[in-house]
Amino acid sequence: MAECPYKLTTADGAPIADNQNSLTAGPRGPLLMQDVQLLEQMQAFNRERIPERVVHAKGSAAYGTFTVTNDEIRKYSKAKLFSKVGKQTETFLRFSTVAGERGAADAERDVRGFALKFYTEEGNWDMVGNNTPVFFVRDPHKFQMFIHTQKRDPKTNVRDMNMQWDFWSLCPESLHQITILFSDRGIPASYRHLNGYGSHTYSLYNEKGERVWCKFHFKTDQGIHNITDDESAELISRDRESHQRDLFDSIERGDFPTWTFFIQVMTEDQAKSFQWNPFDLTKVWPHADFPLIEVGRLELNRNPENYFAEVEQASFSPSATVSGIGFSPDKMLQARLMSYADAHRYRVGTNYHQLPVNKPRCPVMHYQRDGVMSTGQGGSSPNYFPNSHDDAPKDSPEYAEPAMPLGDVTVDRHDSRTDHDDYTQAGNLYRMFDDAHRDRLAKAIGGALGQARREIQERQLCHFFRADEDYGRRVAKELGIDVQALMAGMGSGGERRHS
Ligand code: NDP
Repeated sequence: MAECPYKLTTADGAPIADNQNSLTAGPRGPLLMQDVQLLEQMQAFNRERIPERVVHAKGSAAYGTFTVTNDEIRKYSKAKLFSKVGKQTETFLRFSTVAGERGAADAERDVRGFALKFYTEEGNWDMVGNNTPVFFVRDPHKFQMFIHTQKRDPKTNVRDMNMQWDFWSLCPESLHQITILFSDRGIPASYRHLNGYGSHTYSLYNEKGERVWCKFHFKTDQGIHNITDDESAELISRDRESHQRDLFDSIERGDFPTWTFFIQVMTEDQAKSFQWNPFDLTKVWPHADFPLIEVGRLELNRNPENYFAEVEQASFSPSATVSGIGFSPDKMLQARLMSYADAHRYRVGTNYHQLPVNKPRCPVMHYQRDGVMSTGQGGSSPNYFPNSHDDAPKDSPEYAEPAMPLGDVTVDRHDSRTDHDDYTQAGNLYRMFDDAHRDRLAKAIGGALGQARREIQERQLCHFFRADEDYGRRVAKELGIDVQALMAGMGSGGERRHS
């Protein structure tokens, strides 16, 4: 008889003979501890939930394809995903409500999350936006307080208009977003019928190192469709999962929703004279002054196979960016760069990047290691940097982002190794030691350094010489290194010449 391809097993892979009856002493019990099959099932069940997102807890998502339709953006960005018209990139888009918990109804009046992951050949770019171009607050210090007002009262455990309007009435910067939230767009008819906005100001930079500020817009090709409060109440009474159902079903029947992706661009000079702070998340850039430039088309065309694995564990962070797309001084963006990845480390786990939905489609090589549920990232390669291993990951200076002027200073990865004297004070300390102490020092170093490879010993020896010649000579003696012969093989900079 052919082997059944659907053989039920334990988590350890052993076939299960009976999956409906517990192991008991006699037909009426009691149960036995040795029913490991039952124990495993109960224990796994107890651990099914991970912490739900504090915000954007209820979501729906799908995979898709982004296609470049206009390469004008190449003037501004060197990002590979925009490199030519027709170029396609796999994407994953998660929509969500903001305030409701995981069981909340989809059709409530709320802002909608629009979190889009591009799996580019140079890493993941997460455009973690909303269906509104602005937000309630401009300073991250107020964000957690604002979210508390949208959630349940600590005593009554119900949502409370006093909390919401108390906060809003004390924070006039929220008025723009309040106006959008209570306008017709406050209750989208479905996830297919809303726009997505990056909301923050980001930056783009090109091959020449020129930077512009930029806003991202994804306009629905299905048209904006909204429902009224009455329609929402009626819909929710019938279906709490209306938007999930609509998105899933439309993709299943091959009716793939699409969005057109546009950017707005502002030069650094324009930013200086713009009537508002261009980095203020409560403001838009008027379309008339900063016209939309088309970039491409996003199509959602594949439903996830497993909601938990792919949607609940999907982890988006504005910190996931690619060469050619950068950040801006927007205070809210700066805070989100930390808090989103941090939330996923807590919610999903240290190694959330390694899960299939989050994993970049390009090779990932770095020196981060281990942690809960690691799949062995990094293998047997070194876990420290700098190192002398030719086959270990190396930084690529050609990916350096252009320095960003900020008042009197520039934001850059300023080299902490230049303009520093690393030798004088080490030498001064050495010269304070008496002869016996110097010998003990050299002996202790020789004992440790002597166990390292010869080329490492020689490289380190140069540093001792630079601090104090006698220091170098004593350590060399301990290592059994002939200094004269070593010097003869060195370049003028003191580095060993490699043939
Ligand atoms: P425009 O007349 O050029 O733009 C108006 C835009 O408003 C439309 O293009 C549409 O954006 C958007 N819109 C229409 N109805 C609503 C609504 N009920 N809720 C939210 N947005 C709506 O003027 P401005 O560019 O000067 O913008 C004026 C206001 O429009 C802004 O204060 C902002 O509230 C809203 N808006 C502006 C956007 C921008 O980037 N400038 C983007 C979105 C909204 P869309 O075409 O994106 O659907």
